[in-house]
Formats: sequence, structure tokens, C-alpha cells
Amino acid sequence: MALFLPSVLVTALWAHAEREAPRECVGALGGHPAGGEAAEAVALYPLANLSPDPERTYLADPGHLLRALRAMEAGGLTLVGLYHSHPRGPAWPSPTDARLAAYPVPYVIADLRTRMLRAYRLPEGTPVPLRLEGPHA
Ligand SMILES: [Zn+2]
Repeated sequence: MALFLPSVLVTALWAHAEREAPRECVGALGGHPAGGEAAEAVALYPLANLSPDPERTYLADPGHLLRALRAMEAGGLTLVGLYHSHPRGPAWPSPTDARLAAYPVPYVIADLRTRMLRAYRLPEGTPVPLRLEGPHA
């Protein structure tokens, strides 16, 4: 299982994370399955963070997420990942992240403190590290 993130999306993701800091940012990644369990992201959709405690957790605006999913569908894309930032680190899912992960897709975490980008699957609350491929790797 691997997720390929091209440099244009990596740049957009970090820009979104920096714009929202010290709040966590959240967004969706649309793309294509790339054979086996791999996927390639080709589009990034920033979403509003509606969490009441946005410096520690995220809650994607469900209306924004629905619009992003519809835009993907219209463009022939599927949801290949969700991302959010940890303004103070670490590049590891928090217990809340693991507990609330609802989609069977890679979760990308941008750690602004160390500038690390990491991806995980969160099946049943247990983080499984994924290979993240691209210019940041
Ligand atoms: Zn988190």
C-alpha cells in the first residue's frame, strides 16, 4: 500500500497547513487507484475545520466534504486520502484521530514542527504506516 503525492499537491498541502496554523488544517485528496493497493493523488480539496478545539483536533465541514466528493466524482476521481496538520507535531495519529477515522483511505499527517509528512491507514483505530511516495520522500 502506497500513496503517491506529486510535488504540486505537497506544496499546496503545506501552504494550507501554514495558513491555518496554529489551528489544524484538514482536506481531502482525490485521485486514481494505481494498481494493487496503491493510489495516486491528483487533486487537493481544502476543507474547513469545524472542531471546537481546532488547535488540537479537526472535524471536516461535512458540506465541504460532500462538495469535494461530488467534484471528484464529476472529474472521474475517487477519494484516495484525507489529510490534516499537527501544528506542534508529532507526525503520528493522535488517539482521537485513530478513534474518529471513518474512511478506509490513507490519512496523511503534516507535522509543522519537524516538516514531516506521513501517511497511515487507521483500520479499527490502529495506525498502520503507509509508504508515501513523491518529492518529499
Ligand atoms: Zn491529528
